[in-house]
Amino acid sequence: MRLIVAAHQARDREWIVELLRLALADAPEFIAAPTGESALAHWRQDPQRPQVLIAAPVEDLEPDALIRHMLDPTGITGCPVVMITPGHGRESGPALLRAGAQDYIGESWLSPYVLARAVENAGVRWAAERELREARHLLQAIVDGAGALVFAKDLQGRYFLTNQAWRERLGFDDEQAVGVTDDAVFGPSVAPAVRESDRQVLATGERQVAEETFWRNGQRVTYLASKFPLADAGGRRWAVCGVATDVTSLKEAQAALEARERALQTLADNTPDILLRFDAALRHVFVSAAVQGLTGRAPREFLGRGIREAGLPVSLCELWEAALRMAFHEGRPQTVEFRFDSPAGPRHLTGRFVPEFDPAGRVEQVLAVLHDDTERQRAAEDLRRRARVMARLADASRLIHASLSAEEIARVLVEQARDILGTRQAVVDLAWGDEPLQVVSCDHETPPWGDGRSADGWPGGSPARGQLTVALTNPRGKPVGQVRLADRLDGEFDADAEAVLVQLAAIASTSLENARLYAALRLADQRKTEFIAILAHELRNPLAPIRNGLEILRRKAELRDSAARARDMMERQLGHLVRLVDDLLDVSRISRGKIQLQRSRVNLQAVIDSALEATQATLDAHRHELALEQPHTALWTVGDYTRLVQVMSNLFNNAAKYTPTGGRITVQLRQKGREARIRVSDNGAGIPGSMLPHIFELFTQVRETLPQAQGGLGIGLSLVRQLVQLHGGRIEAHSDGLGLGSRFTLYLPLDDGGATAPADELAEAVLPGADTSSAGPAVASVLR
Ligand code: ADP
Repeated sequence: MRLIVAAHQARDREWIVELLRLALADAPEFIAAPTGESALAHWRQDPQRPQVLIAAPVEDLEPDALIRHMLDPTGITGCPVVMITPGHGRESGPALLRAGAQDYIGESWLSPYVLARAVENAGVRWAAERELREARHLLQAIVDGAGALVFAKDLQGRYFLTNQAWRERLGFDDEQAVGVTDDAVFGPSVAPAVRESDRQVLATGERQVAEETFWRNGQRVTYLASKFPLADAGGRRWAVCGVATDVTSLKEAQAALEARERALQTLADNTPDILLRFDAALRHVFVSAAVQGLTGRAPREFLGRGIREAGLPVSLCELWEAALRMAFHEGRPQTVEFRFDSPAGPRHLTGRFVPEFDPAGRVEQVLAVLHDDTERQRAAEDLRRRARVMARLADASRLIHASLSAEEIARVLVEQARDILGTRQAVVDLAWGDEPLQVVSCDHETPPWGDGRSADGWPGGSPARGQLTVALTNPRGKPVGQVRLADRLDGEFDADAEAVLVQLAAIASTSLENARLYAALRLADQRKTEFIAILAHELRNPLAPIRNGLEILRRKAELRDSAARARDMMERQLGHLVRLVDDLLDVSRISRGKIQLQRSRVNLQAVIDSALEATQATLDAHRHELALEQPHTALWTVGDYTRLVQVMSNLFNNAAKYTPTGGRITVQLRQKGREARIRVSDNGAGIPGSMLPHIFELFTQVRETLPQAQGGLGIGLSLVRQLVQLHGGRIEAHSDGLGLGSRFTLYLPLDDGGATAPADELAEAVLPGADTSSAGPAVASVLR
């Protein structure tokens, strides 16, 4: 060990050395330093070596300055220091101890023993102090290094220990922090609460963990503070120590998370869909409120439980488990449809099981969204049902409209109404004609007609399960009957059923009115036909004798010229009258089905020739040019020669009539497949397009060409068509419009030559007799 002895006086230095030599057992190495700087220089030469500085006053440095130069960063001198002070040393000694000296001795007390003990004690104290300082330094380093805020307060609430984080966060520097109180740290609004918690810690002696929230620089900060008391060896509590962690951002994150959770919960609870979340063990970890509506059970009854534990039906558990497993294993959403018998009745649901992934891409949970499809399916089914009913209504409408009599309409109506609305019984009552009409339809379970018929006319007795009645009306809204349905097979009669029956009744009402009109029309038509027949006969009968008379007159050679002209005129007019009457007779015969053909094998060229011959006079009178095209070989058909000539004459006559003088008429005969085609074309008045479809109807005349009709009645073409049809042929009319000519094309089946028509068909002649019987013999007698 080295003893550095600093003293200004050499005498003092030697004396100190002398005293120590006397008292110290092991003789140390003494180094004398006349100045403070030289003492420091000796000490600095080898700071590692154990040494002690014994300093009496020196001239270059004050005692405390000498000590300060030796202090290291922990505040302790580089080696034990013993100061020799003037006199007893009581005045300056304590200040030297505070400055860092380990001991002091007043020079009045100097003795070998005192000096030696002071040196030894200083060594021990210096070591202890150093240890303590190092420990404190270590503690401070640890405390400062901690991210948390560390502090200690005495019983008066004064901070005596704070760490760097505390000071930085709360805005104090090292010196300001010492002795400060919570009033200054947190402000008067928060300080009382902090003091109260300190008081509790001191009173109970227990650690307290509390959140402390206050505003700093306009921001809300929250600390999680753990406080505990410090007690001395005797157990007396003398300080409150605390560690506070800033949990502001944690709290904010937590609050944000909670807000999100709440928002999600609100969303989940207010969506009509049921949301369920399953963990990998297929347990419910989230269940939305809507589950109660379906199952009648609260969400908490499901939470933490597996599907089977939640008591769902086994078949459903199997279905869900399969979907969940697939979602977990394959990581793809799964969709299942299922039925659930809820307390409110059966429901149809669609479940979508959607996997949710963790950051590593593994399926962590599966979210199930269960959507109640019942209403949509019901609406779709309703729509389909209505469409079916509409289609059947359309069919029923067609069938009813196709019915021409009231009986038929009533029958179709009962059957269709019963069928469409599914009832056991249906009855239609009609006030029709003289007798009331009733049509009934009932299923085989209903007792047969008559047996169990009730007073109100139901075949199976009064209906047990409700009935539906709708009136049938005429166009003026007057009831003409009613349709009744009873005993619906499936459910009650509802507004839909009523709408359907009202619709059917409306269709039937219209058809009934049509049937009434149709019947009336038929009657009128029949009467008209009969009238025409009678009229024609009445007109025909006087014609034959008149013709005979004219014939007789013709033979009188002495007739004067004027009388001859009058007679020719009468003859022409009579011929015209005869043709008209004959046509009328034929029309009436055909419409009464009283015409029969005298069939034979007929050469069509011959027919055309005869018809041309018959109309030659008219053609000549109009100076028409005639072109005739015929094939080289004869074309044959089976038919009534006279009637076929009549057909062609009619066409030639029309062509001549409706073509202005000097026109051109073309007649063409050709074979077309198994048919003969005869075409009569002219370049005359033509027929407007709107009239073409009606031109073959009875009494049809084109208004624009009426002046050229020359006494026609609109009968000829109707007759032509009916005669052609009786021959198994057909006729078509074509015109490009008024003034653009007309073309009539007629097709007749060709006779193949081998097969001749049966004899009985050929032989017949049943033309009613009045005309032939009266005119024929009279003419014959005149001609003889
Ligand atoms: P009508 O005795 O009035 O000629 P038809 O039945 O023979 O009666 O013909 C019906 C109508 O068709 C005629 O009134 C006429 O307007 C029209 N018609 C017939 N043939 C011709 C034709 N070749 N050219 C123009 N119009 C024609």
